[in-house]
Amino acid sequence: MARLFAEAPGYLTAKEVYEGLESRHSGLSFDTVYRNLRVLEELGVLEQFHFEDGIKFRIGCFTHNHNHHHHHLICLSCDRIYPLEFCPMPYVAELPDHFRVVRHKFEIYGYCSECAT
Ligand SMILES: [Zn+2]
Ligand SMILES: [Zn+2]
Ligand SMILES: [Zn+2]
Repeated sequence: MARLFAEAPGYLTAKEVYEGLESRHSGLSFDTVYRNLRVLEELGVLEQFHFEDGIKFRIGCFTHNHNHHHHHLICLSCDRIYPLEFCPMPYVAELPDHFRVVRHKFEIYGYCSECAT
């Protein structure tokens, strides 16, 4: 599965991973593939991204150790991701309903300097 991601140019959906592996491993179920994706994500090998058309996975940006908390700048044109060390969470003033935060997601979508020109 890791090789599939290494060969992929950008993001892969769970379905694409499944289709890619199915040809090499017969009898593989979609559930197994999905479970493996979750495990790899928890290990920090893969990172999960939410797009309008669904959840996609790709190899993590590996700038620091696996569990280092970071966010992403995501280029909509070339699919590149840039790690963002800044976390806006401490700056979120007051949450309604005394909501207690356990985890959060914060991704910025746009165009990198190469694509913006
Ligand atoms: Zn990352
Ligand atoms: Zn770009
Ligand atoms: Zn954060």
